[in-house]
Amino acid sequence: MKIVLQHLTKIFPSRNKKSDEEVVAVSDFDFEIPDGKLIGLLGPSGCGKSTTLYMISGLQKPSSGKIFFGDDDVTELSTENRGIGLVFQNYALYPHMTVKQNILFPLQNLKGEDKMTKEQMLQRAYEAAKLVQIEQLLDRKPSELSGGQQQRVAIARALVKMPRVLLLDEPLSNLDARLRLQTREEIRRIQKETGITTVFVTHDQEEAMSISDMIVVMKAGVVQQIGQPQDVYDDPANLFVAKFLGTPPINVFDGHVKGGKLYVGEDAVLEIGGVADQEVAVGIRPEGFVLDDNGPLVCKPVNVEVMGRDVSVVSTHPASVNPLVRSIINADNRFDLGNESVRYTIKPHKIFIFSKDNEERLRFEVK
Ligand code: ADP
Ligand code: MG
Repeated sequence: MKIVLQHLTKIFPSRNKKSDEEVVAVSDFDFEIPDGKLIGLLGPSGCGKSTTLYMISGLQKPSSGKIFFGDDDVTELSTENRGIGLVFQNYALYPHMTVKQNILFPLQNLKGEDKMTKEQMLQRAYEAAKLVQIEQLLDRKPSELSGGQQQRVAIARALVKMPRVLLLDEPLSNLDARLRLQTREEIRRIQKETGITTVFVTHDQEEAMSISDMIVVMKAGVVQQIGQPQDVYDDPANLFVAKFLGTPPINVFDGHVKGGKLYVGEDAVLEIGGVADQEVAVGIRPEGFVLDDNGPLVCKPVNVEVMGRDVSVVSTHPASVNPLVRSIINADNRFDLGNESVRYTIKPHKIFIFSKDNEERLRFEVK
């Protein structure tokens, strides 16, 4: 089921009676989510992710704009009639019911044509439990389960009605690191197996990048960029997106373009064309640095962190916006901290420049 968002906007009235400043939680969100895909809705806290999800679910009404499931306009449809499954951060299971009763619950309220026999319901509940691999826990109470197991029950409960659309709001935030990793793979597997169009909300860029077919990066209610995770990482539209994706994060420097050369501080790192002389922000991905005794970028080494396959060299540079510059180099390169300076050449496709005025990307040709 494809989902179409048309100029979707949500404005909340001011909470404070004295000021009449309203909050534009989501502004003019336009997107066609392809059938059967998993979309990661990504951005910092408060950027409008949950509000977007709640509008898709029908829990909140848009201030303006429309929502379609396939060709059906569902904008005015109630949550119950949208055919969605919802999963929240805090599993929200009924504590006095067993796992089985929790999963059965949404089926027991079906009316009219959809009404099922007891056998049919049990069969469906068992299938949903099996999909999330908790079929051996059906008689337990939620309090007798780990966080990860509880979240699987919540997912089974969301799936049992065979929804057209699955909506997940930070479903892994309450799990510890290892379980988070495991459960996100599970969600990916379940989504692929069922082929249900899924919107997955998270503030964790790595989580979104790792399981999404496409990501949507939001900031202050406004969509910044939509694309396949690798494409957005490799080709960010602006400085915000470049900074939001990647661990360790991109290194940002004050720089300028002058006479066909790109400078990081005083270091001329690249010959470029297509950009007029101006001050710019320069972003360099950590994996874009190549150790080179004659390289143009000169940093002062501070520390070396061994990360197994790779080595992270931590250094400083006078034009760096952040206190430290992080480069990732192959561990085969022996690195001597005793040196005064460390010199790099920069891989041209790992360096991005942005306008100082509006932080939009400035595209250049490498000469
Ligand atoms: P996210 O899920 O990305 O953290 P939200 O969608 O929850 O962000 O919130 C987006 C913005 O809308 C925030 O500024 C938040 O304070 C505001 N907001 C959310 N819900 C309400 C509400 N019911 N009333 C007023 N403002 C709200
Ligand atoms: Mg939220």
